[in-house]
Amino acid sequence: MQTPLPLIAHHFASISLHTMTAYIGRFAPSPTGPLHFGSLLAALASYLDARYHHGQWLVRIEDLDPPREDPQAAHQILTILDAYQLHWDGEVRYQSQRSEAYQQVLEQLIHQNKVFPCACSRKQLNGTLHNGVCQLADHFRLDNDYAWRFAIGSGECGFDDQLQGHYCESLERDIGDFVVKRRDGPWSYQLAVVADDADQNITHVVRGIDLIDSTLRQQQLQQALDYPIPQYAHIPVALENNGQKLSKQNLATALQPDDSGNTLWDALLWLKQAPPPELRNQGNATVLQWAIQHWNLGALMGIRDNPAPAPFLR
Ligand code: GLU
Repeated sequence: MQTPLPLIAHHFASISLHTMTAYIGRFAPSPTGPLHFGSLLAALASYLDARYHHGQWLVRIEDLDPPREDPQAAHQILTILDAYQLHWDGEVRYQSQRSEAYQQVLEQLIHQNKVFPCACSRKQLNGTLHNGVCQLADHFRLDNDYAWRFAIGSGECGFDDQLQGHYCESLERDIGDFVVKRRDGPWSYQLAVVADDADQNITHVVRGIDLIDSTLRQQQLQQALDYPIPQYAHIPVALENNGQKLSKQNLATALQPDDSGNTLWDALLWLKQAPPPELRNQGNATVLQWAIQHWNLGALMGIRDNPAPAPFLR
């Protein structure tokens, strides 16, 4: 008689794979201004993808750079998410409270010889990427006046994005030795995002395509630190009339809590979902319930940008 073992083994393998890969997604805004239509799209897409997969959805405020931040923004962002009924799991994490963890990550990288101190000025780099370890004069070291850079190495690196296909760059030509701790003190976005994605066990990252070239830097860090690499989906960005990305920097219109029904509808259409017209005035909870059940990330396949709908243009 044939042994049933392979079947059993297969059965257990699929169970353990399923439990090990429970979906955890996140939305990670920098509080540089109130939420606008462009950032709502990243929030909504990451939320729908997580909930469609019965996953958790975390919110992390990336408040690493106080001079660029608006002290009201974190609160405004959370209030708007709440008004849209985009409810997150667990406590909101604030990167400003995570310095000790980032320091430990830096020390691990120093210990592994993956980073080096660098006092090169922008002027010295003259618009070029940093390539290769520099000679740091002793007086810089004594003054603590240097950045830490990740030594990038040579060759190509790439990854498969769920929406944008294979994305590849040359380490020396396109990336260069990048900063993980700035000379003037703050932690870099790259180091903090990698440390927190790993610490929070993030399995899926859904965010704007404007961050796709950061992904390769992040993956270099994840590999060096032996962290798991999440799956990435980079959604298109919303464009202004002049073709520029809708962003806080170009003062995109702040979303208002009392118009959330219309804006949520517009955001779903923009994400190429097709909510049935009869749901239009049924309230955010009902609309979101439909959107979770019918979420179709693939509708955004290969799209890099899309004009923002008229009410969100200046
Ligand atoms: N904090 C970043 C931003 O607001 C996004 C980080 C991410 O999603 O990885 O642009």
